[in-house]
Amino acid sequence: MSCPHSHIEAALDRWNECHWHIHQIEANYHSPDRFRYSFNSFIRAIKEIPQILKMELQNHRKYSAVLKPLINSLNSNELLSTLYKKRNFLVHQGMLNILSYGVAGTTEGRGIKIAVGFKVEPYETTEEAYEKFKYLLRKNKIIRYAVGPDCDSSPMIRREWKLPELSIELLEAAVSAWKLCGEVISEIIIQLGGSALELSFSCRHDPEKVKTMVFNQKEFFESVDGEKTDA
Ligand SMILES: [Zn+2]
Repeated sequence: MSCPHSHIEAALDRWNECHWHIHQIEANYHSPDRFRYSFNSFIRAIKEIPQILKMELQNHRKYSAVLKPLINSLNSNELLSTLYKKRNFLVHQGMLNILSYGVAGTTEGRGIKIAVGFKVEPYETTEEAYEKFKYLLRKNKIIRYAVGPDCDSSPMIRREWKLPELSIELLEAAVSAWKLCGEVISEIIIQLGGSALELSFSCRHDPEKVKTMVFNQKEFFESVDGEKTDA
């Protein structure tokens, strides 16, 4: 008897590739172009999974009765079909219509200490937004002491990417889409006589840490307060 996975080797490979793209999305979260390239690659790969599954399974005896309806459930899923439709839009119109939300403030220990809404433009890196934040604080000492760091905290900017049509943020959308595909592939493997796939994505990074960029406290004191600190 053949291994159940051997029937869908190419689809499993594409699904693993999607996992890799999610790590790219995490790593490039603060650079608009690189974020967009990573997200596009993810959608391109995940969009191919139903087609590959159909090609690999069309001659299987269970195809019409069981496997095809399972594969079709991917196309009828609301999140996946929105992402599939949005792919062309993302490629051709860039990030202009993607919403970029930001807050700036300070972080202390494990979490955010103070945060206020701060516009992070969809075309700018978080480092660029931080330069604007420091410029604002340099000019306004009241805001600086309200939201800037003290000796126990560090400056930070937290940003999020969202499509207007999806209520969830794009990294979350990618992980959810990967899990949805995984559930269907897992069900297919069970139908082929194998056991369920591992879907926990335990290697993903803490989404709060991904979204938050923490900057150097000493550099802030020097460049905003004009303090010279001895190293
Ligand atoms: Zn991983």
